[in-house]
Amino acid sequence: MKNASLPISIEKITKKYGSTYALDHVDLEIRSGEFLTLLGPSGSGKTTLLTVLAGFTRPDGGSVRFGDAEMVCVPPHQRDVGMVFQSYALFPHMTVFDNVAYGLRVKKMSATEIKKAVAEVLDSMSLSHLANRAPNQLSGGQQQRVALARAMVVRPKVLLFDEPLSNLDAKLRAQMRVEIRNIQRRLGITSIFVTHDQDEAMSLSDRIVVMRNAVVEQVGTPDEIYRRPSSVFVADFIGRSNFLAVESAAKSKAGKAKIVVSGKKMDVAAQSKALSSKRPVLLVRPESINVTAAKSSSKKLGKGEGRVTSVVFYGNHVEYTLETNEGVIVAVVSDPIYEEIVAVGKVARYSFDPSRAWLLPSDSIEAMNGERE
Ligand code: ADP
Ligand code: MG
Repeated sequence: MKNASLPISIEKITKKYGSTYALDHVDLEIRSGEFLTLLGPSGSGKTTLLTVLAGFTRPDGGSVRFGDAEMVCVPPHQRDVGMVFQSYALFPHMTVFDNVAYGLRVKKMSATEIKKAVAEVLDSMSLSHLANRAPNQLSGGQQQRVALARAMVVRPKVLLFDEPLSNLDAKLRAQMRVEIRNIQRRLGITSIFVTHDQDEAMSLSDRIVVMRNAVVEQVGTPDEIYRRPSSVFVADFIGRSNFLAVESAAKSKAGKAKIVVSGKKMDVAAQSKALSSKRPVLLVRPESINVTAAKSSSKKLGKGEGRVTSVVFYGNHVEYTLETNEGVIVAVVSDPIYEEIVAVGKVARYSFDPSRAWLLPSDSIEAMNGERE
């Protein structure tokens, strides 16, 4: 079964509760059949945006279109959306079959049609053998799969997920991720998935929308968000980051900057506002930094050197914390040779490939510290 999926166009959607914005003029284009994730800290507006799409929240202004149709005034049950929540919200007194059939009965489909449609969905999700069970006779993962089947049986044009995996244990969560993604690919339904879990967002999404304080901070593929974050906030929210102090920065060719870090000249890719910022910083991910023992171990740190303040050995990788003149640096070295690990207190050399670095404006660090206070 293949659904007719739709692109979604969100323009200047605004929602205020009292004097605080839950959504502040949000613009977003979602492609037909795309798996899009809304990622952001708690309170950033993710659920509000999802409920605006579902029709449970009426925005104060702006427009939502499914294909060409304006939806803002359309009630939820006329929107052709399926929703899956964190709590499975299955009807406890109904069997799996009846839970899944519910939406079709509401639509007044014939009993024969219902039987066929439910059987098809249960089969596609490997749930057929559980059709006559009650929800309390199912595991958490099975319940979540039934909730998904129930959302999909009505052949929605849009699927909305609000942190559907947060109640499951880590192993099941990883398994359900794969399952959700496979089903979504097979059906090709435009899907919007809310999470605050970066691994979930990275592994599931065609594109990720990073939200912060009621606005969209960045939209991009997982690789763009990870390698080319638009701000220190995004870099810090997704994955682990080092922000190295740079000694000087000047324009090179388009999208590039000539910089000096720890006395070393290099050419790096730069965010468009990096060079107009007072003090740009260089983002280098911990796994992009290599650490080796320094030849000398004088009291004073030389260029590209740092003092090891912690070492943790994990077998397949070792994690260093270094104090350097460019700030504290965390480095993750994979497949380490045990005898070559640099001990705490010793001086180490750190290095990285400039093509793995990204120059960012520092202004956003200050803004972020303001937010934390
Ligand atoms: P998220 O899902 O990203 O955690 P929400 O969309 O739930 O964020 O909330 C965004 C902001 O709107 C928060 O500041 C929250 O307190 C506020 N908010 C959400 N729903 C309501 C409501 N029904 N009444 C008042 N404030 C709300
Ligand atoms: Mg939420």
